[in-house]
Amino acid sequence: MTTVAFIGLGNMGGPMALNLLKAGKTVKVFDLVPEAMNQLAQQGALTASSACGAAAGADVVVTMLPAGKHVRGLYIGDTDNKGIIDVVANDTLLIDCSTIDADSAKTVAQAASDKGLDFIDAPVSGGTAGAAAGTLTFICGGSDNAYERAHGVLSDMGANIFHAGGPGAGQVAKICNNMLLSVLMVATSESIQMGMDHGLDPSVLSEIMKVSSGGNWTLNKYNPCPDVMENVPSSNDYQGGFMVDLMVKDLGLSQEAALQSQSSTPMGALARSLYVNHARQGNGKRDFSSIFEQFNKKG
Ligand code: NAD
Repeated sequence: MTTVAFIGLGNMGGPMALNLLKAGKTVKVFDLVPEAMNQLAQQGALTASSACGAAAGADVVVTMLPAGKHVRGLYIGDTDNKGIIDVVANDTLLIDCSTIDADSAKTVAQAASDKGLDFIDAPVSGGTAGAAAGTLTFICGGSDNAYERAHGVLSDMGANIFHAGGPGAGQVAKICNNMLLSVLMVATSESIQMGMDHGLDPSVLSEIMKVSSGGNWTLNKYNPCPDVMENVPSSNDYQGGFMVDLMVKDLGLSQEAALQSQSSTPMGALARSLYVNHARQGNGKRDFSSIFEQFNKKG
């Protein structure tokens, strides 16, 4: 039976690891937070006392961590600590599902390759609901061989799996998507609010725009105006969903990438600025559709 080491059991990693257990994998977990490990242990996971302890002896390692520094630190290690690439067997497959900068992903992929190991960056789209339902979209970067090897484990946790290109390409595709999403969310919010300011019913306006040329994902699935749509964060005081702080992180990554490639991304830059401002007003832990309030609240 395949043994998967799963490291990083937060909002996303916890339910993803649970889906691997449900798929019949032997799962060995590690997180800095003991409670996160205990919850998985109650579902049948084995626990380890360190990331390397979880990874040693595993067929596949999956990581779901906050940022690039965590991913580099755990895989490569430093002068005092061994990295995962130092302790795994030659044929262990390494999969990082975190959203991080493409350079970190490439650095880890190269360090792994130097040791003869396959590493793939596989950031996800679909949020906590997709993680729980096992319907995530994985956007992969790495060699054809690594991608093919990763497909089976990823399909235990997701519904759509794409190969965007070589190492780091998954991360680039992911931040392109999130930059576009942020722009759509801001533009949809200001449009609905302007209609409301002119006396329109936001539900009627949303139905009109959905099937008109302004139609987009936020109108179809994630309307930012409270009480237009059921079971979305805007109808639950913007709780749950995708945090403003994480959108700010992703928009920072997209602007760094734009600087590197000298790409012109004025809409992404403006969206980042708006989201940073929104976070600074105490909204960092709320869902990203709460940007609607920047247009809705009267001064
Ligand atoms: P989270 O903060 O809930 O979880 C991160 C986990 O990593 C925590 O449990 C933390 O204790 C653990 N961790 C940190 N450093 C560690 C270390 N050195 N060793 C072991 N464990 C460590 O974050 P999340 O919402 O699960 O997001 C994880 C990643 O997924 C991020 O890169 C995020 O951008 C991305 N992502 C999140 C969502 C979402 O909706 N939450 C959607 C898509 C992508």
